[in-house]
Amino acid sequence: MIRKILKYPNPILRKKCQEVREITEEIKNLAWDMVKTMERNKGIGLAASQIGELKRIIIAQIGKKPQIFINPKIIKKSKESLLAQEGCLSFPGLFLKIKRAKEVEIEALNEEGKVGKIKTEGLPARIFQHEIDHLDGILFIDRISFWQRLKIGKKLKNFKLRDDFN
Ligand code: ZN
Repeated sequence: MIRKILKYPNPILRKKCQEVREITEEIKNLAWDMVKTMERNKGIGLAASQIGELKRIIIAQIGKKPQIFINPKIIKKSKESLLAQEGCLSFPGLFLKIKRAKEVEIEALNEEGKVGKIKTEGLPARIFQHEIDHLDGILFIDRISFWQRLKIGKKLKNFKLRDDFN
């Protein structure tokens, strides 16, 4: 089922997601809903909180296919960082330059409950960092400088004035 993506400033986007204790049918269905919702919206990453589910599940486009990561954790991060443009399905039309670690190593469960590690760099590493932030209620607008924030202040205000954020 395709779900509705919550838009900023919906307060649910600021909530912390809970660890998945057991991979039930319900969790699998939720993960597949997320895959379909992300594909429909032409996204390359999606966190469960963006569809109003406070569970630690993300979808990330790794290679050509969207993949499911449950309870994802960053276990290693490079000191080297990269500045690149990012978007977010919860902020339609907003693109910001964000500094992120160039490489990250992730540990997560797949939808079968198997633990795996994945080392990525560049765009996929950026997707992981962006989506895992979502699980902690952190949004990409929290990662910009004070000056950048001043510059986009008006745009953020416009998001607040819209009434379709639910
Ligand atoms: Zn996002």
